[in-house]
Amino acid sequence: MTSPSDAARRTVLITGASLAGPTLAYWLHRYGFAVTVVEKAHAPRGGGYPIDVRGTAVEVVRRMGILPALQVAHIDTGRFTFLDADGGEVAALHPSAVAGSVAGRDLEVGRGDLTAALYETVRDDVEFVFDDSVDTLDQHESGVDVTFRSGGQRTFDVVVGADGMHSGTRKVLFGPEEQFHRYLGYGFAVFTMPNFLGLTRELLMWNTPGRAAALYATGDADDDLHAFLNFHQPEQPLGVVREGLREPDAQRDLVARTYAGAGWEVTRIVEAMHQADDLFFDTAGQIRMLSWSSGRVAFVGDAAYAPSFLTGQGSSLALVGAYMLARSLATHGDHVDAFAAYERDTREFVTMNQALVDKGGARLFPTTAEALEQRNARLRDLVAMPASTPQPAHSALVLPAPAPAA
Ligand SMILES: Cc1cc2nc3c(=O)[nH]c(=O)nc-3n(C[C@H](O)[C@H](O)[C@H](O)COP(=O)(O)OP(=O)(O)OC[C@H]3O[C@@H](n4cnc5c(N)ncnc54)[C@H](O)[C@@H]3O)c2cc1C
Repeated sequence: MTSPSDAARRTVLITGASLAGPTLAYWLHRYGFAVTVVEKAHAPRGGGYPIDVRGTAVEVVRRMGILPALQVAHIDTGRFTFLDADGGEVAALHPSAVAGSVAGRDLEVGRGDLTAALYETVRDDVEFVFDDSVDTLDQHESGVDVTFRSGGQRTFDVVVGADGMHSGTRKVLFGPEEQFHRYLGYGFAVFTMPNFLGLTRELLMWNTPGRAAALYATGDADDDLHAFLNFHQPEQPLGVVREGLREPDAQRDLVARTYAGAGWEVTRIVEAMHQADDLFFDTAGQIRMLSWSSGRVAFVGDAAYAPSFLTGQGSSLALVGAYMLARSLATHGDHVDAFAAYERDTREFVTMNQALVDKGGARLFPTTAEALEQRNARLRDLVAMPASTPQPAHSALVLPAPAPAA
């Protein structure tokens, strides 16, 4: 165990100020490290779709003291209704029954609410540098020399990439994302649109084989809807989504072609996509790295092990991974031992959660008529069940006690 005075001399640069970054910063500050967080956006990114904090991750936010605020922000969605090709009801359930989450314990919050809560806990204690990113990393025996896009140069004991699935830090260190990306066979578009159906705290999802369109009302009838179009695409559409090259017109065209002739209100949703100024398009995929570190540089959250939104576990893995990495750095004086311990104690949990989905096999998004019929039969069975079963992977890691504070 290192003494606080040893730890106080250790400097850490974290890239990315979303979920994993501020969580890691909070715990490292508590353990006496001098922390700098660099974020390429000009402020913590607000808004966005609802995300889940489940199982082991609930304990992380409790230990950070933000559980009560997140419980207030919790989106208490009453109903998840599945629709057939013509908009007829297939089944209506409580959302926790579908997600394997635990009602009354697990949380669903706006992504911006979670980012803001994490940032608030640590903003006055560590250095945040916005509107910047890492250009080069040069490791040597006594540290990592970092050049920033803004032109500055500094040296840190350790650098951690918490800059998401398309991590620029990972690219600087290891090269192109392709070598770590496991494509899962779907493309998706998320955006907000007017609440033309007057929905209140409910989720509607329309499916045909290989196509889904969802409308999520997280608020009242006069609040905008989160629209979500998820579709099967056997080969990754590299022409429309590629590292560093995003082509919104090509993305909109692909979605419009995919949903041509669709029933229910889908045409209206696709029209709204064309008007949306907050369209987010990507393909569903996972990041799988054989090792989460190299020398003095490690990765955490989506940058190291994005499980994809299809598992609903990305936020939880980011929170738990950051907690575990900080604890390992606090309990091991040497970064090599610390990174090894982080990986040894966290990898099984990550692997279990990444295994919740396979290529083209997402439970909610069947790609054939037969699989859709089977899913619908399962949903009707769930309606008849008295209580939902929690997904064991969500709580598979028992969080160790924090290291002593500095
Ligand atoms: C549509 C959608 C729906 C989702 N739904 C769910 C859900 O229901 N449940 C769930 O648990 N998860 C969900 N997720 C996943 C979840 O959002 C991520 O897993 C989670 O945000 C990962 O957190 P992170 O901090 O590791 O990375 P991110 O949240 O991706 O944050 C990375 C940060 O790094 C910054 N950055 C990027 N590049 C650089 C750079 N070069 N230098 C500096 N900063 C940089 C970015 O601006 C960003 O602030 C969903 C994701 C999507 C896209």
